[in-house]
Amino acid sequence: ETIDLKDPSLLATKAFIAGKWEDAEGSATFEVRNPATGRVLAQVPQMGAAETRRAIEAANAAWGAWRAQPAKARAAVLRKWYDLMLANADDLAAIMTAEQGKPLAEAKGEIQYAASFLEWFGEEAKRVYGDTIPSPTADKRLVVVKEPVGVCAAITPWNFPAAMITRKVGPALAAGCPIVVKPAEATPLSALALAVLAERAGVPAGVLSVVTGDPKAIGAEMTSNALVRKLSFTGSTGVGRLLMSQCAATVKKLSLELGGNAPFIVFDDADLDAAVAGAIASKYRNSGQTCVCANRFYVHEKVYDAFAAKLQAAVEQQLKVGRGTEPGVTQGPLINEAALLKVETHIADAVSKGARVAIGGKRHALGHNFFEPTILTGVTSAMQIAKEETFGPVAPLFKFAGDDEVVRLANDTEFGLAAYFYSRDIGRVWRVAEALEYGMVGINTGLISNEVAPFGGVKQSGLGREGSHYGIDEYVVVKYLCMGI
Ligand code: ADP
Repeated sequence: ETIDLKDPSLLATKAFIAGKWEDAEGSATFEVRNPATGRVLAQVPQMGAAETRRAIEAANAAWGAWRAQPAKARAAVLRKWYDLMLANADDLAAIMTAEQGKPLAEAKGEIQYAASFLEWFGEEAKRVYGDTIPSPTADKRLVVVKEPVGVCAAITPWNFPAAMITRKVGPALAAGCPIVVKPAEATPLSALALAVLAERAGVPAGVLSVVTGDPKAIGAEMTSNALVRKLSFTGSTGVGRLLMSQCAATVKKLSLELGGNAPFIVFDDADLDAAVAGAIASKYRNSGQTCVCANRFYVHEKVYDAFAAKLQAAVEQQLKVGRGTEPGVTQGPLINEAALLKVETHIADAVSKGARVAIGGKRHALGHNFFEPTILTGVTSAMQIAKEETFGPVAPLFKFAGDDEVVRLANDTEFGLAAYFYSRDIGRVWRVAEALEYGMVGINTGLISNEVAPFGGVKQSGLGREGSHYGIDEYVVVKYLCMGI
């Protein structure tokens, strides 16, 4: 299957190592498929430990010259890369929709969001300030400087094939670090297209490499190689735990952005129409495949039926399932068969324990990986869907009566990424915002992500923050200089 591009050279199908476009040793490849059609889009190199090691060694060799450039010069490269992303946004979106499935408009939105991290961190590069500390004794002067941590490695997921890369590469390059990226197997083409533009923007050879292929082999090399000082991972909690343990042997600095199980609470004083709009945006964006998607809707008993009816009407009127390239489509396919099976399992489990399917509930007539947007009512804590992230277009509606009760239910999970709630009572807004054990809380909104705000979780949703001025801290180390005078 071909992807129609204005600039066909953006469709790179070799990996990018040390400034060269390369095949795997032995020329092994793997297939990239369109989840909306099942057809093969491209073959990309199936690389492993040896190629990863070369990329890491090249990064280490390139580090000195890159960190020696003034921040302003690194910022100029990031700005150029940002400009190139925007200039090529249509092609980048077309590549993303082809391999990931999200609607074109959403893909284009992601390209802009992804590019914004390059712009933002280029600007922040100039503001990696240190400190002077008043000395407790007269004979010393104390100074703190911040330095790039060193060679970084990044492992990224398929749900945001561009933004999860720039959110790591942007601050790494800004701080003066080289980085080796392993994109998800499902979406390497977006990553490679970004590398094409990085090369054009003047990112020096070795400062950015993109290695495609075997996750276990590449991950094992990234986590065991002592030259790698930092690993940044976005993906499932299970893989995050594994990578964290693998990094223990060489004590790497870590950023982990893992799973969520976001509660979305609708209090009885909420603006219901606003809550419905927020629910649609938070739940069904990317067909429910984001780690900050609302996963559990807690609706106050007084407004439960009204909210359920309004949400159902909105789903019926506003959501259209189809290929992402078709105009008006809001719901693309899920990424693969495993994703469909998980959604089906959660629905079947809920229904077997008494939940009712208000709308949807099954695979879509379009076939392939398409699933109907679904609402479940009468959902309880005993159901699987209350505990696990569904990562699909299913809105389960739980009923609650009291503030303390709902906060307890919302916090009753090992995850702590995003939470949302709707209320107009200012006292309740503060109390609930403070009581929710989450890294991010959306209050009267279902959309919270942008490049200037700190994205990240607590508990088993991860470590560290991405985006914002905090995001660059993950790529620097503090050095203390103590001067006797
Ligand atoms: P998902 O379930 O959303 O695919 P994963 O955590 O499996 O989430 O995938 C996120 C990223 O982690 C992908 O790039 C994937 O290839 C990678 N990955 C999966 N397993 C491993 C592993 N054992 N070691 C290193 N990377 C892995």
